[in-house]
Amino acid sequence: MGTLAGRVAMVTGAAQGIGRAIAALLGASGARVALCDVVEPAAAQDALAEAGEGAAYFRCDVRSASEVEATVKAIVERMGGLAILVNNAGIAIDGLLLRAKDEDWQRVLEVNLTGAFHCTRAAAKHLLKARAQGRIVNISSVVGEAGSTGQVAYAASKAGLLGVTKTLAQELASRGVTVNAVCPGFIETRMTEEHVQGERRERLVASIPLGRIGSPRDVAEAVLFLCGDGAGYITGQCLRVNGGLYM
Ligand code: NAP
Repeated sequence: MGTLAGRVAMVTGAAQGIGRAIAALLGASGARVALCDVVEPAAAQDALAEAGEGAAYFRCDVRSASEVEATVKAIVERMGGLAILVNNAGIAIDGLLLRAKDEDWQRVLEVNLTGAFHCTRAAAKHLLKARAQGRIVNISSVVGEAGSTGQVAYAASKAGLLGVTKTLAQELASRGVTVNAVCPGFIETRMTEEHVQGERRERLVASIPLGRIGSPRDVAEAVLFLCGDGAGYITGQCLRVNGGLYM
């Protein structure tokens, strides 16, 4: 029996990258995982298999409040409750301010910040029923704390998630539900593909005190810790998983 046995966990953006690693690790720790993503079910099959026997896939675009509501309802009906929410779905559309397009700003904010709001609002009443086992983990970023040239919308969305984390930590604390953020640095996924090639990679690695780019598993381990009973007295915090890149 794993440490999360009996708990149902909803992970958004779970078809690949960091979300996939989170789903796999929570599943290996005994949780039954509801993997949510915009991709067709066929494209999520590998992630679903890795998340263990009790896992299920739900196609859901977090930008749509109605789709999220319907998905949470389906998860609770099919899986018997909801104790853990990991708001991981996210996109980055980079570009310097003077060339930034309104639609790119809106899309990044809609997925990264409004999406997390939709999921948290829809899941909250079920998480409150889980009482002291209720957990929300928001995947923010080093960029939300430190800023990053060419990432104005992404930085705004990730800094916004930290405000959401602290506010809901206060709102939900009286029922024992904790709300925390994880702030990854550079993690090797599709999102960072173009930044981690050739000479750029060498420069990047040289700037990271621990001397390597992070893996999705590094982030998943932090999420697992925050979801477990051992983190029951930690709320409103940001756990940095960045190899020492930003302290
Ligand atoms: P990724 O490999 O691109 O995975 C993101 C997943 O989210 C994809 O499966 C994507 O589906 C899905 N998604 C996108 N829009 C969605 C929507 N509207 N509704 C539901 N799912 C949606 O990225 P990642 O690197 O694993 O990033 C995961 C999270 O970590 C993001 O929030 C990101 O900002 C954060 N983060 C990443 C890094 C890093 O270095 N990689 C660092 C700090 C923070 P599609 O394939 O269809 O787009």
